[in-house]
Amino acid sequence: MSVLIKNGRIITAAADFIGDIFIEGEIISAIGKNLAVKAATTIDATGKLVFPGGIDPHVHLDMPFMGTFSSDSYETGTRAALYGGTTMVIDFVLQTQGKSLQHALNDWRSRSDNNCVGDYSFHMAVTDFNDETKKEIRHFIEEEGIVSFKTFMAYKGALMIDDRQMIGLMEEVKKCGGLINVHATNGDMIDYLVAKHRAEGKLSPLYHYLSQPEITEAEASERFVDMAGYTGCPGYIVHLTCEGALNAVRNATKRNQKMFVETCIQYLLLDASLYEKDFEGAKWVMSPPLREKKDQATLWAGINQGLVQVVATDHCPFKWDQKLMGKNDFSKIPNGHPAIENRMELLYSEGVEKGKITLNKYVEVTSTNAAKIFGMFPRKGTLAPGSDADIVIFDPTEKHILSVATHHMNVDYSAYEGWEVTGKVKTVLLRGKVAIDNNKCEAEKGYGQFIKRKKVSQMV
Ligand SMILES: [Zn+2]
Repeated sequence: MSVLIKNGRIITAAADFIGDIFIEGEIISAIGKNLAVKAATTIDATGKLVFPGGIDPHVHLDMPFMGTFSSDSYETGTRAALYGGTTMVIDFVLQTQGKSLQHALNDWRSRSDNNCVGDYSFHMAVTDFNDETKKEIRHFIEEEGIVSFKTFMAYKGALMIDDRQMIGLMEEVKKCGGLINVHATNGDMIDYLVAKHRAEGKLSPLYHYLSQPEITEAEASERFVDMAGYTGCPGYIVHLTCEGALNAVRNATKRNQKMFVETCIQYLLLDASLYEKDFEGAKWVMSPPLREKKDQATLWAGINQGLVQVVATDHCPFKWDQKLMGKNDFSKIPNGHPAIENRMELLYSEGVEKGKITLNKYVEVTSTNAAKIFGMFPRKGTLAPGSDADIVIFDPTEKHILSVATHHMNVDYSAYEGWEVTGKVKTVLLRGKVAIDNNKCEAEKGYGQFIKRKKVSQMV
């Protein structure tokens, strides 16, 4: 099976030219101008952009939470991702405190394996670091191909590890060639503020926001980068939202630390004024919460300064009846919002089209950098001979409206209802197969593969 994509404007993190891409099987075999090859299928990409499939390294599909599950399964979530130009996701396995990492991985794989339409991998969240867990780290990196370990500095009693565990984990992960991801917010401060607001009868979604002020994130980010600097362990801060936290990273980079930053599309585009809409604000209840306009400016600048390497989603959808669990108490609203399908088009429209970032930067932050940081480059994250043929063909001029009526995510509201975006995903190839074409998904459940990753110390 061979495919020729002809006359597209080919964009990678470094290149921008009109040319052809020839695919044999799952792999790109040649890129150039006027390729003299015969293919079983030819796709005319004249007038279109052609760039690497998006990688969203922060999603939560079918995630158990408060007796329910995030509403996208591995099937519906990865399919919606493909519709939006994202060919691979990295989800999170969450260790149960008192049990092994392997136990959690087996549990997650019982939901994910043979159910994904798009490619996937996992970060392993270590919520209980002890002598037994320590022994599992090397196995995960060298045998399972899971090289990134998520930590929580919040959610005490469920997910949070203390600084003693953090230092121990950092030393082990560094030794084995991995990377630590962190949810960097000060859990004790937040728990105090949540309890205080509840005691005062302040129970609307606005108080979710007011219980997690910027300082809770800035303080934890600073502490994390200091601990990472001390141990020499590479770090990656997930869903960074604000100026104070980014300043901590700026200090780390002055010390030449390997410290990477992800923000999410919502923190670039939405702000905390949405929490003033009474209970409707629950649609955007997530942690950390949406911030201020000044933080959006900081994050866009951070992308261009190279301090923010990745734009992800933290996609964690809950249907409206699930959000209603917190109708009378913001602390019971399931955290998360749907965006897996919208990220690529929103960032193109609001970032590239509006002149905030270049096309090359767009490819970097939606695909290439995640592939490099998480040990998949150059198999994923670029268009080059030998790379997987994960390719988006994109019409940069087509305007359309984002809506629950047209999206493919399994959730009954859109966080971006009514947004007009310029630019539309037209065709998506995943490992050489046309997965999306003409608003139809042609890849089946089970086509998505688990991607084993390489030691990140080889890449960063
Ligand atoms: Zn998350």
